Amino acid sequence: MGMNGEVRTRFAPSPTGFMHLGGLRTALYNYLFARKMGGKFILRIEDTDQERYVEGATEVIYDTLRGCGMQWDEGPDVGGPVGPYIQSERKDMYLPYAKQLVKTGHAYYCFCTECELRQRREAAEKRGEVFKYDKHCLSLTPEEVQAKLDAGTPYVIRQNAPTEGTTSYHDLVYGDMTFPNDTLDDMVLIKADGMPTYNFANVIDDHLMGITHVMRGAEYLSSTPKYNLLYEAFGWEVPQYVHLPSVMRDSHHKLSKRDGDAYYSDYVEKGYLTEALINYLALVGWNPGDDREFFTMDELVDVFDVARLNKAPGIFDVDKLTWFNAEYIRRMDFDRYLAMVTPWFDRVLAGKGIDYTRLAQLMQERTEVFNRVPDMVAFLGKLPEYDVDLYTHKKMKTNPEVATTALELCLPVLENIPEDAWSEANLHDRLMEKIQESGMKNGQVLWPLRIAISGQASTPGGAMEIAYLLGKDETLRRIREGMKLLESAREA
Ligand code: GLU
Repeated sequence: MGMNGEVRTRFAPSPTGFMHLGGLRTALYNYLFARKMGGKFILRIEDTDQERYVEGATEVIYDTLRGCGMQWDEGPDVGGPVGPYIQSERKDMYLPYAKQLVKTGHAYYCFCTECELRQRREAAEKRGEVFKYDKHCLSLTPEEVQAKLDAGTPYVIRQNAPTEGTTSYHDLVYGDMTFPNDTLDDMVLIKADGMPTYNFANVIDDHLMGITHVMRGAEYLSSTPKYNLLYEAFGWEVPQYVHLPSVMRDSHHKLSKRDGDAYYSDYVEKGYLTEALINYLALVGWNPGDDREFFTMDELVDVFDVARLNKAPGIFDVDKLTWFNAEYIRRMDFDRYLAMVTPWFDRVLAGKGIDYTRLAQLMQERTEVFNRVPDMVAFLGKLPEYDVDLYTHKKMKTNPEVATTALELCLPVLENIPEDAWSEANLHDRLMEKIQESGMKNGQVLWPLRIAISGQASTPGGAMEIAYLLGKDETLRRIREGMKLLESAREA
C-alpha cells in the first residue's frame, strides 16, 4: 500500500492522438479499482518518445476520460503532490537514478553506435539467434568510461541484467510468473538524447508517485521482471501487478485502425453513446459474477472486483455493443434524444420543414446507432425510386389494382383537409371514415398509401404519421406520382 495504506492506480497513456478501446478499458479498470478502494486515480502522460509527439494528443486523452466520466484525482492540469505528471516535464529526474544504478553495478554506460549494433544484430540473425545486447561495454574500465564521457562520446545507459537464475512475480490476473534471466536483455534506461525510455521511466515514476497497483496491457508481462530487478536494485517496494489481456475483434483479429473499429472516436463518430460504450467495455474482460448487464459508472464502482478479471483476451463484439446502445437510447430522456438526433436528421432533412419532435418520437425506439438514422428518415426529404411490386402485399390483400383504387379513394379525402387542419388526428378520422364507407379493409388502403408517400416497405410510423410529417402538398404530390407509376405499370 502507498502513503497511509491508500490504493493509488495510474493510467499512463502515450499521447498518440487516439484512444484505443484497449487503452480506454485499462483506464476504466484503473479508475474503478481506485474508486472502489477509496484510493486515488492518477493520470500520467508518457511522452518521452519525442519522435512520436502528436499535436493536440494530450487533449484527446483529457477529453476522452472526462467525457467518459473518469475524472483523475492527480494529473496534468489538476496537479497533485507528486507532479509534474507529464514525463517530458520530469526529464531531469531520471538521469541521477540511472547514475545511482551505474554506481551499484546494476547499470552501465554503453557507447556502441547504432551501426555497430546493427552489424551485431544482423550477424546474430545469420546464426539464427535472437539478438540480445552482448554486454560489450560492460567490460570497459572506469577510466575508459570516464575518458569517453569527457570526450563527449554519445552514450546510453543500460540495465545490467543477470544472466543466470530466474525472476518471478505474482500478477493478480495471470498468477505466478517466472522468467529465466538469460532471456532478459540489457535494456536501455537512458537514451542518447538524455531522455529515459518507457522501461526506465515507468519504474521511477510509479515509485515516486506511490503507485500501489500497476494495471496495464499484458504486452508488459514479459518486461516486468526487468522492472522488478530495478525496484530491487533501488531497494524499493515492488507494486502489485494487474496485467490486462488485449481487447480483440474476435479470437484471431485485433481491432484495427484501418477497419475503423479500434478507437474511441470511431464509435463516437458513428453515434454510439459513451454510457453504452463504457458499460459494455467494462464487461469485455470482467464480469460482475451474476447476470446483470446494465451498470452506471457508480454501479460499476460498487461491484468492481479485480478477482473477476479474465485472463482470456476480451472479445469486443460490435453487435453486442449495438444492442446496449439501442437499450440506452430507448431509456434516454426524450429531450436529450431529440437534441442528439437533430444533427443526424439535418444531414438529410435540413430545410425541409419536418416536425423533428414528432419524428424523434417515432424514431427513438427504433434507433440502434445514430449513424443509421439518416438512411431511415431520408425518404421524408426525397421520395426514393421504388418498384411497383411494393404495392403487392399478401397479408394486406393488396396488389397494383387494389392500390390504384385505394389511392383514388384517398386523394380527394386528403385534398379536402385544409392545410391548417393537417393533423394526425384529422388524417386518421377522415381516412377511416372513407375506408369504412368503401367497404375496403384498412390495410388495403393504408398499405398502398404508405408505399406511395414513402416509397419503401419499412418506415418509422404508419401512413398517417408520414402524411402528417410530409405536409399536405408533398403528400398529395407523392400520391399522384404513385398513381402515375401504377398507371404506367398497367399499360406496360
Ligand atoms: N505509456 C504506456 C503505453 O501507452 C503505458 C504502459 C503502462 O501503463 O505502464 O502503453
